[in-house]
Amino acid sequence: MAALPASGRPAPVQGRGKAKGPRPKHVPQRMCVACREHDAKRGLTRVVRTPEGSVELDPTGKRNGRGAYLCGRRECWERALRTNALARALNVPIDDDTAALLRRHAETLAPTGTADDPTSPHPGGR
Ligand SMILES: [Zn+2]
Repeated sequence: MAALPASGRPAPVQGRGKAKGPRPKHVPQRMCVACREHDAKRGLTRVVRTPEGSVELDPTGKRNGRGAYLCGRRECWERALRTNALARALNVPIDDDTAALLRRHAETLAPTGTADDPTSPHPGGR
């Protein structure tokens, strides 16, 4: 180990008008309106306010209208209804029929986020 090439000159760090800083780009984030978690793995379900003003489930995520996302936890759906988080996100009041529809959907979901504890079918039973 003797001959080092003499090209180890550190290049001067210098931006000459070509510096491209990290531009804040608007990326549509899918965030559960109840727990505010991003959950791409479990998947979020879109709820859409249609141009007609009704609120419907949008499993495909492609419908027109203002959308809000809820994750796969039943409690998030119930909380979003109870706290009006969904109504706020969609900027439209949720009527009883819509709330019933969403609750019915919530009942198809697992009671808690991690449904891997079959010994406790009643969450929060303390
Ligand atoms: Zn959630």
